[in-house]
Amino acid sequence: MNIKSKLPNLGTTIFSVMSALSNQYNAINLSQGFPNFDCDERLKKLVASYINRGYNQYCPMTGAAPLVERLAIKIQQLYGIEYDPKNEINITSGATQAIFSTIHAFIHSGDEVIIVEPAYDCYQPSILLAGGVVVPYQIKAPDWKIDWKEFEKLLSPKTRMIILNTPHNPSGSILEDNDFLSLQKIVKDTDIVILSDEVYEHMVFDDKKHCSILEYPALRKRSLATFSFGKTLHATGWKLGYIVGDATLMHEFRKIHQFDVFTSNTPFQYAIADYLEDESTYLDLPNFFQTKRDFFLNSIEQSPFKYLPSSGTYFQVADYSDISDEPDTEFARRMTIEYGVAVIPISVFYHNNLDNRVVRFCFAKTEDVLQKAAEMICNIKRKV
Ligand code: PMP
Ligand code: GLN
Repeated sequence: MNIKSKLPNLGTTIFSVMSALSNQYNAINLSQGFPNFDCDERLKKLVASYINRGYNQYCPMTGAAPLVERLAIKIQQLYGIEYDPKNEINITSGATQAIFSTIHAFIHSGDEVIIVEPAYDCYQPSILLAGGVVVPYQIKAPDWKIDWKEFEKLLSPKTRMIILNTPHNPSGSILEDNDFLSLQKIVKDTDIVILSDEVYEHMVFDDKKHCSILEYPALRKRSLATFSFGKTLHATGWKLGYIVGDATLMHEFRKIHQFDVFTSNTPFQYAIADYLEDESTYLDLPNFFQTKRDFFLNSIEQSPFKYLPSSGTYFQVADYSDISDEPDTEFARRMTIEYGVAVIPISVFYHNNLDNRVVRFCFAKTEDVLQKAAEMICNIKRKV
């Protein structure tokens, strides 16, 4: 049988590849981003109680009412904006599904989508499947800043969407007020939709605050922002998230959402709605993760890696050019196999495999594991 692949050049996601290699060699897995600790007992009990009480059938296509209402309160408290829980917030099966459905709701064949590389790896295949054209803008180590004058040059009459990600995976950089103000000027008088991937909204460090696209009135009317309970609740395996946007945009989003998934896991939604009533469940996260970042960075201080502390996400990138001249994919393999610590190479997130000689560590781990990994990292020798 002749199968004509829709994505002939696509391999397996680097997260699966590196986790498999890590398991094969019994390495400490700081590659794929997930916590090695469990979510809160109270949350697990809430889930069990909703399952036992029979909340086990489809919930509304848009999400369980208590959860979207709770999220409207959260968004209003954090960003000072009123979103209508019925028409402007939708629960999704992870941010990944929100991203896929949004791209399919707005991208027609031949439309251009600007993405910022290194780009989270689900954007490009979703755009290609929708018939869109990926237009990459590249940010680079060590500061990972967007030069908005250069960025603006990528806009064309065919630009239909811009995808942003802040805090940014994998670099750990964040977009700040001046970035959004520059973007606002650039997209004025266009029909460009912005998809803002803000799954790490509660992981911003050093007393900085997360700037959400939702806070900018001129951007808000053209934007959808997506968030992930996987990150916020230390429960990546639950694959639950949500998307927020003006009713006109949400109306289009739902046309796709209702047929690519229809609805997401019911009892978990009710449990999360109750759990989030206690705001400390998310307001304490910056501190929680900054402590982990600082512990990790202090522990690898004597190693030959060079780095600027991550501003957000639970990732830290580090430059290994004082250790090796290998391409980052080979270095990441060797770190896993020879040094026993699995990491993610960054070049795979660039269409042209741009190699900054940096790798990504995930520090969403308990201190004993970070300590053990750091000891192994500190044993790595400088090149001669
Ligand atoms: N966007 C980014 C930048 C991510 O790092 C992730 C992480 N997994 C996702 C989207 C997908 O989130 P989810 O697991 O909720 O689908
Ligand atoms: N977002 C996670 C990361 O960046 C992994 C998600 C996945 O495995 N698809 O590592």
